[in-house]
Amino acid sequence: MPGTETRGLSTAEARRVQAETGRNELPRVRQVPAWRRFAGQFTHFFALLLWGAAVLALVAGMPQLAVAVVAVVVVNGIFAFAQEERAAHAAARLRELLPTQVAVVRDGRTVRVDAAEIVPGDVVVLTAGDRLPADARFVETDTCTVDESMLTGESEPVPKTPGDDGFGGTFLANGDARAEVTATGARTRLAAIASLTAEVQPPPTPLQRELRRIVRILSAVALGLGVAFCLVSIAIGTPLRDAFLFAIGVAVAMIPEGLLPTVTLSLAMGAQRMAGRNALVRNLQAVETLGSTTFICTDKTGTLTQNRMNVVEVWTPEGGVGLDGEGYSPEGTAEGPPAALARAALTAWAGRAASRGRIHRHDAGRHPGGEGAGPAGSAVEGVGAEGGDPADWVAEGDPMEAALDAAAHRLAPYAAGAASGRDAGVGAGPTGATARERHGTPPALAEPAVARRYAFDPARRRESVVVGDELLVKGAPESVLARCRDRALAEQAHAAVVGMAARGLRVLAVARRDLAPGAPSTAPSTTPDELETGLELLGLVGLQDPPRDGVPGALRQAREAGIRVAMITGDHPATAAAIARQTGLALGEPVVIEGRDLPADEAALGELVDRDGVVVSRVSPEQKLAIARALQRRGHVLAMTGDGVNDGPALNEADIGVAMGASGTDVAREAADLVLLDDDFSTIIAAVEQGRATYTNIRRFLTYHLTDNVAELTPFVVWALSGGNVPLALGVLQVLALDIGTDLLPALALGAERPGKDVLRRPPERRHLLDGALLVRVFGVLGPVQAVFEMGAFAAVLWGGGWRWGQVPEPALVALASGAAFTTVVLAQMANAFGCRSATRPAWRLGWGDNRMLLWAVAAELVLLLGFLFPGPLAAALGHAPPPPAGLAVALAAVPAVLLADGIHKRVRHHRTGAGASGAGRAGRRSAVRERS
Ligand code: ATP
Repeated sequence: MPGTETRGLSTAEARRVQAETGRNELPRVRQVPAWRRFAGQFTHFFALLLWGAAVLALVAGMPQLAVAVVAVVVVNGIFAFAQEERAAHAAARLRELLPTQVAVVRDGRTVRVDAAEIVPGDVVVLTAGDRLPADARFVETDTCTVDESMLTGESEPVPKTPGDDGFGGTFLANGDARAEVTATGARTRLAAIASLTAEVQPPPTPLQRELRRIVRILSAVALGLGVAFCLVSIAIGTPLRDAFLFAIGVAVAMIPEGLLPTVTLSLAMGAQRMAGRNALVRNLQAVETLGSTTFICTDKTGTLTQNRMNVVEVWTPEGGVGLDGEGYSPEGTAEGPPAALARAALTAWAGRAASRGRIHRHDAGRHPGGEGAGPAGSAVEGVGAEGGDPADWVAEGDPMEAALDAAAHRLAPYAAGAASGRDAGVGAGPTGATARERHGTPPALAEPAVARRYAFDPARRRESVVVGDELLVKGAPESVLARCRDRALAEQAHAAVVGMAARGLRVLAVARRDLAPGAPSTAPSTTPDELETGLELLGLVGLQDPPRDGVPGALRQAREAGIRVAMITGDHPATAAAIARQTGLALGEPVVIEGRDLPADEAALGELVDRDGVVVSRVSPEQKLAIARALQRRGHVLAMTGDGVNDGPALNEADIGVAMGASGTDVAREAADLVLLDDDFSTIIAAVEQGRATYTNIRRFLTYHLTDNVAELTPFVVWALSGGNVPLALGVLQVLALDIGTDLLPALALGAERPGKDVLRRPPERRHLLDGALLVRVFGVLGPVQAVFEMGAFAAVLWGGGWRWGQVPEPALVALASGAAFTTVVLAQMANAFGCRSATRPAWRLGWGDNRMLLWAVAAELVLLLGFLFPGPLAAALGHAPPPPAGLAVALAAVPAVLLADGIHKRVRHHRTGAGASGAGRAGRRSAVRERS
């Protein structure tokens, strides 16, 4: 870029300015004020039902009950508010982990700093996909367009030239730019707009819809039962007041008050665990959606491969050259015929000139010969002469371009004229290279004086620069070879490309042309397409990018988990196929489809790509979007990775957009639901595992909560069915004490259960949280067992106290019996919590101490139980007393009984649904495997 001499601010100046202007952060606008969030906890559907119950209680002349119900709403609301705030803080902390770094010129060098550190006067260096960190005035631009849609609604990117203004929050859609920051933080236009923006209500996610469904079902049941009980009580001659009391009790018993906040907290814990494995979710609900992913579209470079590029071959018309060198070190060796070596050096030099990615030594902090390197060659001295550690060299910018830089250095000694020690330009270009006598020691390559740059864009698949009176071009072979003059040579090169790509190499073609008189002018109005014609092919560069270590294992896991994986790449079909083979993405010969062959019809497209291990190559961003839609149309829950500027729409469209934290663009990260901090495909699978675990956990505590409801409801049913002959075993206040007292902590602990070993060994599930299997378990097994023991304990104490059918027992005896029933429910719920840890394995096979939080929760539950029972005002208000030995014995017996019944039920179901069905591919056994957790 011309004019790169700008030195920007010094670090000291920047610090001084920051002391005046503050950090570059938008004033925090919480979308919903705290008081409204707090109030929301008292106005949701469950709460409204309870308010209704309180009013009824008051009308019926039972102020104590009204107060108790109000207390429940308040305690529960505060609890829920606290949980949701905790979850929101966890989510906010996770967002802070997102890298928001910008390149800025400080002390004359380009460095990356936290976007919050930017101050007015800073010169930021931007490239396609970068977000403007603050308001700024462009000082240099290269084919630069900016997407300002978020501020103006204008969907077409706006071209920018020096002197134009840019706004914080907008994205560079194309090209490169430098811009001087004019306003930061609260003084930006974005801050002004953000504070005006009305609340944004995103559409409900699948989980939210599912929870609403549960709330609706349970509320309808609670209301229906309440009314039915009221009518039955009146019919059997109960005074109206008592009938109301029962109706309220039944309704309150059916509402799992603690459910919603537990779900939120469970999602937050899932998100935190994902963050621990380098997967950041940008909204909590994505945790659950990830668990139901059925299809992953992944790109290749950096996700399946390491994105550590190395040029290993250069093809030239004079012959092939093999290159050797470690990492991004400028040192290395080359082998080939002398003429080929010279041509390879020229090819690498030209390719490097048409690139901005550079190698740079970690410790020295500078490029071997580039801008800011001090005396030419000083950084190289250490490497060449003293054999510095190659691992010190890192890529700055695009790793592929940095690899070209390394190759240009490694080949420079072979450049025409280099051996004679002449200070010749490697490519006879105007800037040339300072070659060294000592063979193998890389000379410092000067930065070419680029007069104009036509940045890489995925539609052209080329990048070119004007250096002196030459145009230097590098890009995808098809796109460059088609523009070469010598057709015979282009054909020859095509054949070479196929061979290199089949070895898994990413291939770039490098070409040049004279811009001497007669050539199209380089005036700003000339498009790159007009210039990039009649090219002279210099050579082909083959880059190696080894697969990531964990990828084959992760792909196997995905397959086992019934998730299909497709590679969607912009790269050459043969390169993509080779990587698919190397990583095990495809078992056998991969099916490779080229972008240009994709059908326009959505149904046909879906059918074509909906298979495991398929490779779609040379894909455009629009095609990525079409693929996402087609797969979703086929019912897939789709996770799609993307890192480029144009990937935003596809990431938005996918159920889970996945962006790269390390290498991706800001645009992709903003559009994504999940950001992989390590860019690694395996991390997606780890996140899916945690997502599935979270979904299972929600089912766990849903089972747990609902079982308690059965036990709470039974006394009312027995009372009604007996025509009032059996006294009420539990009163409304006891029900409330169970719901918001003893039940909450174990439910939270179940929400923190770790993923089971077989979470990834079953196909993805797309079923309701509240489904047949769960209802059978709750209402057919766990609930009835608890209820039988609860009523058994109640009856045993009454019977022992001399009560007989039809008699009205003494209130003191009822209190003892009720205490026994209450104790039974609490103890049975403890056993139930352990049973709910798995839907397939009995509690005694699970390792009692695995979930430490549950142990603490159960201990706390015991303490609470004692607190509730201990004679005193609380026990008096609840209307019970500590159970006598007979009641206690039945209560204690409930513990093994619940565990045993649960174990037997699991075993029976396991047999009935097909024991041993373990493979994801065994569709006939699907339902069996689905039930596992
Ligand atoms: P992958 O799936 O491997 O990540 P991609 O989808 O990101 O690939 P693109 O970056 O769009 O692919 O690149 C498509 C092709 O364009 C590459 O195969 C390469 O030939 C060419 N190409 C990529 N980057 C550049 C660049 N900076 N300059 C010139 N050509 C490039």
